[in-house]
Amino acid sequence: MQPMPDTPNRLFEVACKGCGQVLVTVEHLRDPEIAVLEDHLRACCQSEPLPDAPLLGEIMARVRVAAVDRA
Ligand SMILES: [Zn+2]
Repeated sequence: MQPMPDTPNRLFEVACKGCGQVLVTVEHLRDPEIAVLEDHLRACCQSEPLPDAPLLGEIMARVRVAAVDRA
């Protein structure tokens, strides 16, 4: 499963489902961005903590991805 379609001239805004905060706005989600999401989710979702080595799917289940047009 690819969490984001590979669409040119689009950015993806990734927001936390828990608090609604936009965490990153990126062309592609790569390890550094995923680490940002993981850090936030560990701090934010205290009631449902992430496992020590979360799968990408477990992280993506806790965020909302929206495509935005590049300015
Ligand atoms: Zn949050």
